[in-house]
Amino acid sequence: MKKEYDLIVIGAGPGGSIAAKTAAKEGLDVLLIEKRQEIGDPIRCAEGVGKYNLKQHIEPDPRWICADLKGSCIFSPDGTEIEMAEEIAGGEVGYVLERKIFDRALANESAIAGAEVMVKTRATDLIIENETVCGIKLMHMGEEYEVRSKIVIGADGMESKVGRWAGIDTSVKPADIETCAQYLVSNANIDQEFCYFYLGNEIAPAGYIWLFPKGGNKANVGIGILGSKSGENRPIDLLNEFIEKNMPDAKIIEMVVGGVPVSGTIDRTIANGLMLVGDAARQSDPITGGGIINAMDAGKIAGEVAVKAIRKGDNSTTTLQEYEDLWRETIGREIDNSLIVKETFVNFTDEDLNSLANSLKNVNFTSMSLLDLLLALFKANKKLLWNLRGLF
Ligand code: FAD
Repeated sequence: MKKEYDLIVIGAGPGGSIAAKTAAKEGLDVLLIEKRQEIGDPIRCAEGVGKYNLKQHIEPDPRWICADLKGSCIFSPDGTEIEMAEEIAGGEVGYVLERKIFDRALANESAIAGAEVMVKTRATDLIIENETVCGIKLMHMGEEYEVRSKIVIGADGMESKVGRWAGIDTSVKPADIETCAQYLVSNANIDQEFCYFYLGNEIAPAGYIWLFPKGGNKANVGIGILGSKSGENRPIDLLNEFIEKNMPDAKIIEMVVGGVPVSGTIDRTIANGLMLVGDAARQSDPITGGGIINAMDAGKIAGEVAVKAIRKGDNSTTTLQEYEDLWRETIGREIDNSLIVKETFVNFTDEDLNSLANSLKNVNFTSMSLLDLLLALFKANKKLLWNLRGLF
């Protein structure tokens, strides 16, 4: 470890590794640090990603793909099934990843591009001089160090502290957090080419249960419920109930718990000398809770803006504003749209969900995108148009 770098990236998740790779490839001197001793472990993720978006960042590799999806099935509370399959929609679906290997592969790509990667290295604070971030304090193998840099990227995930250290308000109210619990189970006995979603206020209040294939008859079975609607319900109890009823042969071989912020975008993700990306910038999707691709997209934009800023010799918010503008035009717009849809859906009763599912079950989807699903919904259910008018 040197005393000074062009760029320090905190956190080797998908967002941090892509940011580090992008900047290192352009010749910046980059340090990527990760507090855990093994990148990607433990994971807190159902590991589903869209194929097309993933391929914009990395060539798919069978070593970290557990399942190549052909479609998904959504079940309403009364058991009505809506199927969206590749052959019906004609588009690519997605993968279920092995993130322990995937996250490591991404960090490896940043190392190949020239970044220095350090594990078991925790950022403990920022160095701020003249209202500008100019490095970090870190702890490595029990020793404290100060390392300076022209820019810091905070990619330290859901429990991010980096933004707060820089005076950015990244707080999320407990009511706006989707609380999740998930098991990896063997003996899943599901079609390994399909994802399954179960809706209903009894099984998952203002949320859903997911069932994602992991290959070899294994699956991630998880639940996410919204803080503001969960009441006395504990996600783990609801998940146990679901498994007992629907997957009697399943054997639990791993468990994760975690939270996903679903409150939409925050006001600011930059400060002088600092950018936040991924979950640290609250960039996950309010409906699906998905954040891998958004983190990677944001990491790429932040890496590119860091290169420009350093070449220009200006790390102030005036230059870093380009990051803020670019991610809001793309990722931000999708998050805003999802938030409008989420606000509508969380107030649905089980009857609403059943009638919606019934009106959709014979629809021929022309693609798998959220927008196409919405268009189908509008046609089937005119009263939704008013609630979702903000999308147009
Ligand atoms: P992370 O992947 O969280 O990476 C942050 C990294 O920073 C971690 O490795 C952490 O150890 C490190 N770090 C933290 N603090 C420090 C520090 N002080 N110093 C050094 N390192 C530090 N998204 C999807 O797209 N698809 C899904 O199917 C999906 N399922 C999910 C299921 C659950 C139960 C949960 C909780 C989340 C799920 N998500 C899913 C969300 C997804 O996991 C995140 O959005 C994604 O990992 C965000 O990437 P990131 O790089 O921003 O942060």
